[in-house]
Amino acid sequence: MLKGVPTLAGRNLRLLTVHHRAKASAAEPAEQLDQETDLLKRAKFGHTGKQLQQKISTEKKLRAPPLLNLVFANRKLSFYDPSSTPKTKEDNAKLNQRRHYSMRPHREQEQRNAEDVLFDMFASEETGLISMGKFLAGLKTTGIRRSDPRVRELMDNLKKVHKLNNYETGSSAETQHLNRETFKAVVAPNIVLIAKAFRQQFVIPDFTSFVKDIEDIYHRCKTNTLGKLADYIPQLARYNPDSWGLSICTIDGQRFSMGDVEVPFTLQSCSKPLTYAIALEKLGPKVVHSYVGQEPSGRNFNELVLDQNKKPHNPMINAGAILTCSLMNALVKPDMTSAEIFDYTMSWFKRLSGGEYIGFNNAVFLSEREAADRNYALGFYMRENKCFPKRTNLKEVMDFYFQCCSMETNCEAMSVIAASLANGGICPTTEEKVFRPEVIRDVLSIMHSCGTYDYSGQFAFKVGLPAKSGVSGGMMLVIPNVMGIFAWSPPLDHLGNTVRGLQFCEELVSMFNFHRYDNLKHLSNKKDPRKHRYETKGLSIVNLLFSAASGDVTALRRHRLSGMDITLADYDGRTALHLAASEGHLECVKFLLEQCHVPHNPKDRWGNLPVDEAENFGHTHVVEFLRSWAEKADLSSEECKTEAVTSTTQADEEICSTSDLDTSPAASPIPTPVGGSGRSSPVPSDAGSTASAGSASSIDDKTKPGL
Ligand code: GLN
Repeated sequence: MLKGVPTLAGRNLRLLTVHHRAKASAAEPAEQLDQETDLLKRAKFGHTGKQLQQKISTEKKLRAPPLLNLVFANRKLSFYDPSSTPKTKEDNAKLNQRRHYSMRPHREQEQRNAEDVLFDMFASEETGLISMGKFLAGLKTTGIRRSDPRVRELMDNLKKVHKLNNYETGSSAETQHLNRETFKAVVAPNIVLIAKAFRQQFVIPDFTSFVKDIEDIYHRCKTNTLGKLADYIPQLARYNPDSWGLSICTIDGQRFSMGDVEVPFTLQSCSKPLTYAIALEKLGPKVVHSYVGQEPSGRNFNELVLDQNKKPHNPMINAGAILTCSLMNALVKPDMTSAEIFDYTMSWFKRLSGGEYIGFNNAVFLSEREAADRNYALGFYMRENKCFPKRTNLKEVMDFYFQCCSMETNCEAMSVIAASLANGGICPTTEEKVFRPEVIRDVLSIMHSCGTYDYSGQFAFKVGLPAKSGVSGGMMLVIPNVMGIFAWSPPLDHLGNTVRGLQFCEELVSMFNFHRYDNLKHLSNKKDPRKHRYETKGLSIVNLLFSAASGDVTALRRHRLSGMDITLADYDGRTALHLAASEGHLECVKFLLEQCHVPHNPKDRWGNLPVDEAENFGHTHVVEFLRSWAEKADLSSEECKTEAVTSTTQADEEICSTSDLDTSPAASPIPTPVGGSGRSSPVPSDAGSTASAGSASSIDDKTKPGL
């Protein structure tokens, strides 16, 4: 099946790298030739299985441990990977020379080419080739789709390679297997985005977990069968009430969709914030708001009412949206014909959606125009009150308004539009700057206070996010600087909001801290999917190790009291005890051993114990203390073993085994002693310990020296 890939890889490589080489200076032909032969050799190398495997295994031996921040869903890296520890004494000596503090960055590794690291993550050890199917599936778990315009070059390159391999049977362009060099050349044009994805540097780092929660909410909403279809026009009345689609697009273009996300529906009132945005972009807020207000009307969306200045209350209700349409006709593009204005507006919507589906439903348009007594009444009422700009042709304006309501789209496209709003006017998938951020700020402000008809006040209170609903069952939700969400389900509540869409928004915000005011201090105990899973742990480690390295016993005590796991180790397997010992902070060493009962002999990745550190840096008093502690500890553990022979309970066995915490930094801390130890401890007995008081006291004598 894999036949042909490597033989042609040299050619592939030449094709794909032709651009780079064209740039190479003509003064270096020899070097160029060398490179080429080298590449060809390597490609050939890839063809001879044994040699390749040898090469891979040698490379692996030489290879530094993988980057800490390169995490892939199923291949998470621990903070400390003992398997990557060099074993020889020379290695140890070299590394010891090079390292200084444990949080020293692994520069060489960081400099390692991201393409190589990715290859190593996914390549098969047997074949030495990477399955692009697996790789793309991995990319998808980060939220990046194959259809994303930002990976277009990658997908095109895959097709080219597949073609060069004569459409190798048994695999498609997207499932072919590539050798290292070909893979690197294929992904190179999009490597920045791809590396960002696998390094979990997107706004939702753990997209897979987030999506699981979203799926749960989706399913709960699906069972809600309340609400009624809009029936003022037949096209809306014919919707399937079971339709339920949900699409998400983050500001980094991470996508997730489920349900009826490709079923087309008309924009209806969801077009209102978009036409308002175009008017703001072109005319500025001063001009626009000299015609339309910013207040919630407190009345129905199509009520025949103006504010006290004889202006429509806001651009999100029908009167305000008709007025916005008049601004487009009379002020934004006064010279355009109606047809041109339609195209012009549609092109804005398309840009916002990153080129995804925006169409037009003529039947809905004709029906809207037929059933528009109230909207016409609003138009005439506003004309009577001189609301429109000069030169307004009311008939054209009304048609334009109906056209905007009748533009057709689907959940997928609308989620990108919502994400463009969340992203300050820049479309996340195309990276095109569509609107100025000031415009988006104004649009979101109005959506926040007026976006869900007469429910707007409650929505702002409960959900605390800008949103816009439409009579066709759409709900556009914007989480500024995070993501856009579009929910679509036709049954509406008595105020005209989609029932399932509304439930989704409310449940979303009760699970995640997305409400505008969830970020107030001391308030939220909800999930924050923006946080990296390791963020909190990483910070704790930094704080803990820093306190130990600087000899700050008070800080250590504070960490202990707050229940922190004092045995935590950093990526190099270095614990607080290592740092306190290497810096000669005897008080800290004593505190860690006597009060926190951390293991005295954890090994770091170079196999060093805290006592080795103290010795290396000439802290004899610390060395002495640690040695005598170790002797006592060994003695106690011997006693424990002997006793265990005569009278063992299961709990005893577990305890004895935890006293041998020799290497693992992740091993659980020894339980805190309780009373009767003869030692006064400033630490409350149960701080940070899960062991019961009884069992802890019964074992302490056996496991801890000096207790
Ligand atoms: N076409 C509808 C109307 O003007 C749009 C209103 C809505 O979605 N609420 O009545």
